[in-house]
Amino acid sequence: MSGNQFDVVIVGAGFAGLYMLHRVLATGRTARVLEQASDVGGTWYWNRYPGARCDAESLAYSYSFSSDLEQEWTWSERYAQQPEILAYARHVADRFDLRQHIDFDSRVASADWDEALGSWVVKTGHNRMFRASVCIMATGCLSVPRRPDIKGLEDFSGHFYQASQWPTEPVNFKDQRVGLIGTGSSGIQAVPVIASEAAELTVFQRTPNFSVPAQNKVLDADWVDAFKARYSEHRENHRQGVGSGFGDLAVLPQAGPMDPVLFESLTADQARDILEAAWERGGARFMGAIGDTLMNPVANAFAQNFVHQKIKDIVDDPEIAAALCPSNHPIGTRRICVDSDYYATYNLPHVRLVNLLKDPIIQITEHGVELQSEHVALDTLVIATGFDAMTGALLSMNITGSKGLTLAEAWSEGPKTYLGLMSCGFPNLFMITGPGSPSVLSNMIVSIEQHVDFVMSCLEFMVDHQHQRVEPDPKSQSGWMEHVQEVANSTLFPQGGSWYLGANVPGKPRVFMPYAAGVGPYRLACDAVAEADFRGFEFA
Ligand SMILES: Cc1cc2nc3c(=O)[nH]c(=O)nc-3n(C[C@H](O)[C@H](O)[C@H](O)COP(=O)(O)OP(=O)(O)OC[C@H]3O[C@@H](n4cnc5c(N)ncnc54)[C@H](O)[C@@H]3O)c2cc1C
Repeated sequence: MSGNQFDVVIVGAGFAGLYMLHRVLATGRTARVLEQASDVGGTWYWNRYPGARCDAESLAYSYSFSSDLEQEWTWSERYAQQPEILAYARHVADRFDLRQHIDFDSRVASADWDEALGSWVVKTGHNRMFRASVCIMATGCLSVPRRPDIKGLEDFSGHFYQASQWPTEPVNFKDQRVGLIGTGSSGIQAVPVIASEAAELTVFQRTPNFSVPAQNKVLDADWVDAFKARYSEHRENHRQGVGSGFGDLAVLPQAGPMDPVLFESLTADQARDILEAAWERGGARFMGAIGDTLMNPVANAFAQNFVHQKIKDIVDDPEIAAALCPSNHPIGTRRICVDSDYYATYNLPHVRLVNLLKDPIIQITEHGVELQSEHVALDTLVIATGFDAMTGALLSMNITGSKGLTLAEAWSEGPKTYLGLMSCGFPNLFMITGPGSPSVLSNMIVSIEQHVDFVMSCLEFMVDHQHQRVEPDPKSQSGWMEHVQEVANSTLFPQGGSWYLGANVPGKPRVFMPYAAGVGPYRLACDAVAEADFRGFEFA
């Protein structure tokens, strides 16, 4: 047993787990990472579907903790593809000598707080047991895939793939009649690439999502050099929350931060020009081009109409264009998708869109998809139907805190955290990018680094003050959760009916989970807590 005793156990070896491990080891503590996959990379290990790439720009979607690392790594494209991001995660693991501290193929099944010994007992599916006074959940916000509840899904006898559990060996779509269900970020990235290979592609769409062009390109070496020469300024800009940590990579820092233009100060022509420029520049920063698009329904409706018009301009068939225009949520209140030629793909003769609102799926059959109107024969079926987001991974483990309280019980009405970092009743259990923090609304590597740094300061504070145990005080936790809801309610986000609210999972409590104020204000709140001797946390 002593061989399985550590100062810290970390669950997950994605970007959060790797950086957490690096920081913990640097202080001389012992640590073990338990990871259910066979390698590092998290999201980028699992999501190998065709077209998978980041939608934050590569030079921003990367670690900032080591200037040597950021200088030596070369990103080839504005938005890196999955293999390159996975290679980066592997490089980090090797460069910082992290692998020897990671157990792969080790799914954590339970974590129990042992009050008498003041430690967590963490068990894997293979019944291996680990003990540590501190347990850190770096289990990811988008790591538990959702399968659609469609009759007959198991009956399909052709090739079947799920975007978020894509096989490691190459998948060939040549000469195949492919069907794809799910038109969120992953589906929208995959459609053009599958269409370029398949004999026929049928996309089954229930809900259209807004997508803006990535305007992806191979990075120019001189531009990268200039950017890297001022990397620390860029990083500061990302941390302070210009665009939730996405930064504005189209300009170098000397151009200054973008002024937040409000819709009411603009004429319609000016607003259209701003959106046109943002469309041409590409990327999710489209949402920040007019500062109040996510707060002001009139500004939002204007942006919606702008994108609708773009779709109608791109897609030749007016009926298909109309079906692709989202009308049931304000733009940006579901994660804005970033694509490469998604809409134009529907002009190809072998690509077909089935609007499930008009022609619903009755069932999946052995050989295809039976719609109300016809049977669509398929050789391959791909589903890209999203995740049980933010709470899925945490609740799929049996976590039991003090007094026998389980996390599932504590969160039966929705997640409850202080700063998205800890939950009352679960001493010494930290979450990285948990519900109640900016997490999925931000450039997540910015958020991950900030959380890990905060956890390390808290652990150092405990050493300095000889504390053994930390958890939030209930009043601070409920105050923070009220604040998270207040901020959400001052935006249009709650109208999105999205996975941010748990709306894609039947029976999941409808609570807006991420903190919508942005990474800059959130960082200020955390810094103020730390400076006030970790106000709101109880130590013993
Ligand atoms: C397709 C896709 C594209 C994305 N693109 C972007 C982007 O462009 N920008 C951005 O900011 N974010 C993006 N994200 C979000 C992305 O999840 C984060 O950016 C980031 O990779 C999260 O890192 P993480 O370490 O917190 O979590 P993850 O990468 O999800 O890693 C969590 C790890 O924990 C492991 N794990 C979970 N439960 C257990 C358990 N019980 N036992 C053992 N191991 C467990 C998982 O196997 C996984 O390896 C994207 C997500 C997806 C799915």
